[in-house]
Amino acid sequence: MIKYSQQDISAEDIQAVVDALKGDVLTQGPLLLKFESKVAERVAARYAISTNSATSALHLSCIALGLKKGDIVWTSPISFVASANCALYCRASVDFVDIDPDTALMSVELLEIKLKHAEKIGKLPKILIPVHLAGSICNMKRISQLSKKYGFAVIEDASHAIGATYFDQPVGNCKYSDITIFSFHPVKVMTTLEGGIAVTNNKLLADKISKLRGHGITRKIDEFELERPGPWYYEQQDLGFNYRFNEIQAALGISQLSRLDDFLVKRHLLMKNYEIAFNDSPNIKFLLQPEGTYSAYHLAIVSILKASKDQHRNLFNYMRNNDIFVQLHYWPIHLHPFYRKMGFQEGDYPNSERYGVTSFSMPLYTSLELESQKKVIEILKKGIVEMNLI
Ligand SMILES: *Cc1c(COP(=O)(O)O)cnc(C)c1O
Repeated sequence: MIKYSQQDISAEDIQAVVDALKGDVLTQGPLLLKFESKVAERVAARYAISTNSATSALHLSCIALGLKKGDIVWTSPISFVASANCALYCRASVDFVDIDPDTALMSVELLEIKLKHAEKIGKLPKILIPVHLAGSICNMKRISQLSKKYGFAVIEDASHAIGATYFDQPVGNCKYSDITIFSFHPVKVMTTLEGGIAVTNNKLLADKISKLRGHGITRKIDEFELERPGPWYYEQQDLGFNYRFNEIQAALGISQLSRLDDFLVKRHLLMKNYEIAFNDSPNIKFLLQPEGTYSAYHLAIVSILKASKDQHRNLFNYMRNNDIFVQLHYWPIHLHPFYRKMGFQEGDYPNSERYGVTSFSMPLYTSLELESQKKVIEILKKGIVEMNLI
């Protein structure tokens, strides 16, 4: 079976983990600090705080930005549920901005219309979470302008986009946002097993996220609110969590990060092969890359433009029956039962809903052999002929 994604673990990665296991400290040690500084350097951000998942990083980012009950967060319906759930953890409410059908990224035109309306009715968002789906980059310049005009904060959900660039600058430099988060789950571009990181240029936000990651405790004497009763003392100042990262994850992360450029080269090569193979199939479209962006190509998302719901499902099943484990990224968040119970319903975000019944992710990972990719392409070609979808 050929999966849609697969981690790439080298002998060096394994050695790095084994070495870390022999170290004095297994969690919260020197490798964690090294990993954080390497990620910060790579994405050109001042501060990086590693967490046990990107979901945790999103949660802490929301708290650090002051999100609370009564506030509103907007994100894209086409994302992993974590992009929206993080708001609900803070007892804020969630709303969505529909996607642009060509890129499947949050539409800035629809965002602007929604903001104008929200201003009139007094329901502007406190935080916007644009999602860099598949490693493609949202229109951050426009989003940043709108954030200034309407006064909301921006968290980039770059779970798919480590290594991507936007107008020749690394995603994560937070030029157009307050915080950017990345995920290192095994299906993503690089992995630390579970793991995530929040990066920012704002020291106050970085300190808050860092403290909340470890129960809201500080051990820094100059930060104590009360007089230190003895050398054992540490101080809990907020209600935080155990969202810590460990030395094993950091060791793997440092090793994987050194391979990131090779990963991206391979991903671009595979993506190009797909695009060339379906160049003359007007009904088969891979996501359009926005101007000025270099994608991390976490996913090879294909849309079958004219497909009916049934044709899409049949083609999806056809691929799986032929041992190609395609997957949909993502079924629109608002259509999950949990979100429907909050009042969302079919018809709310038509572009996202159409995307959900026309798209799926083709296999794309660094160890995918070119021969196997040829087979995948052949099967999709056969499938669209059989289903009359050319
Ligand atoms: C994977 C993912 C997350 C969550 O990442 P974890 O590290 O698994 O918590 C959040 N947002 C998006 C868009 C993702 O794909």
